[in-house]
Amino acid sequence: MSLSAQPKASLFIDGEYVEGEGPELAVLYPFTGETIATLREASPEQVERACASARRAQVEWAAMAPVERGRILSRAVRIIEERNEELARLETLDTGKPIQETLVADWPSGAEALEYYAGLAATVTGQMIPLGQDWAYTRREPLGVCAGIGAWNYPSQIACWKAAPALAMGNSMVYKPSEETPLGALKLAEIFIEAGVPAGVYNVVQGRGQVGASLVTNPDVAKVSLTGSVPTGRKVYTAAAEGMRHVTMELGGKSPLIVFDDANLEDAVSAAILANFYSSGQICSNGTRVFLQEGIKQRFLDRLVERVRNIRMGDPLDPDTNHGPMINAAQTAKIRAMIEGAEAAGARMVCGGTGEGAFIPPTVFADATDDMEIARDEIFGPVMTTLSFFDEEEVVRRANDTGFGLAAGVFTQDLTRAHRVIGNLQAGTCWINTYNLTPVQMPFGGVKMSGVGRENSAAAIEHYSQLKSVYVGMGGVDAPY
Ligand code: NAD
Repeated sequence: MSLSAQPKASLFIDGEYVEGEGPELAVLYPFTGETIATLREASPEQVERACASARRAQVEWAAMAPVERGRILSRAVRIIEERNEELARLETLDTGKPIQETLVADWPSGAEALEYYAGLAATVTGQMIPLGQDWAYTRREPLGVCAGIGAWNYPSQIACWKAAPALAMGNSMVYKPSEETPLGALKLAEIFIEAGVPAGVYNVVQGRGQVGASLVTNPDVAKVSLTGSVPTGRKVYTAAAEGMRHVTMELGGKSPLIVFDDANLEDAVSAAILANFYSSGQICSNGTRVFLQEGIKQRFLDRLVERVRNIRMGDPLDPDTNHGPMINAAQTAKIRAMIEGAEAAGARMVCGGTGEGAFIPPTVFADATDDMEIARDEIFGPVMTTLSFFDEEEVVRRANDTGFGLAAGVFTQDLTRAHRVIGNLQAGTCWINTYNLTPVQMPFGGVKMSGVGRENSAAAIEHYSQLKSVYVGMGGVDAPY
């Protein structure tokens, strides 16, 4: 079976595929390391052309009735659903994630976002403000050209999560996927054209960090939405601030998952597995600091180890595989070094290890302490750090002792404690007695260094629009002279 995934050309500008004029970009299949496509980055002139095309197209797109924009986005949903299998296979080749996941999680979640905002488009209204004889009203208007920059772990979902609210509100977009996973966004651009989105409303440029940087400072760009790491977020936010651009920052995390003695053991173990090992651990909101209360700790670890043995690591295109390779060699080496560092620092490995080749098995550490690197830094791989605690006040303090604030979870049967603990945790996205579910209806995003703004839900509309206030004078104008 051929694994070639070469697209028609590397970029998508003004409604058509265009070959890049910048340096080469090899796309590797993480499972075998073979080159499945060779792309070219966008040149600075091509980035400018993409932004200029987005600026022109946005005017026509914003003038369209919102219900019509919604209708067009709904057509894109249907096309994605019809092609889900083919798109899932491409996503697996691009990312190395098991087909078992990409069939149900990646494009389906992207389609769900498009469906949601397609319906929401026509419901966005302003306010009428009575002022006696006079009155005022507000209009929620699009921002203009939005730049989207994506991470490699959920490339097509991220592309859709940004495009859906942006386009529904009448903005246009120039999107730069991660250089590691550039293929899905091109498919989205193709699908939009087929659905009837006007040429130029959604453009894709390829490239490494500097192409993203040139997008952020392009004079046509009014807003930047980044999904990536905290160090990149800091750079992009700073650069965007120069031009007073709006931002959404979806960044990394080191989220706590707190399991109290009274938790349902089986559910808590299931959640910890999903919170650490789904997508081979490459998820920003993962609950990688699992705090176990002393009374449940040993039972939890025993059951966890038993269940982790059921893992099926291997060929991502095999439908039985549920644990794929890491995205690339650099990431694999970084995770291995962190596992070795944890052992050297005295953490006890209860299962897993450094693995072989591109694979790292689900790895669990016990007896870790808060100051260890594995308890402080984002690993972005299948490594769970468990820490023990005695009481609520202590665990909340320790859970909050981090610069990150993306997500948090709590497992307990005590209703009031569940809500009290969540109320005291510094995190943007939280779960009680479950973990990592991110339906489009629920706002998603972080606090502290994990981000600014929210994706999904009606909240994202505010991040892709601005308010215009209009005072309407109904009488004469009284001036002092
Ligand atoms: P990364 O920060 O290395 O890169 C993200 C994107 O930014 C890439 O497209 C990259 O080319 C681009 N980029 C790099 N430097 C840039 C610059 N100076 N200006 C503009 N763009 C630049 O992140 P990654 O390794 O691709 O992804 C993993 C990270 O993403 C993890 O930290 C993870 O937690 C985070 N993430 C967050 C979310 C979320 O929603 N909060 C979701 C997925 C991933």
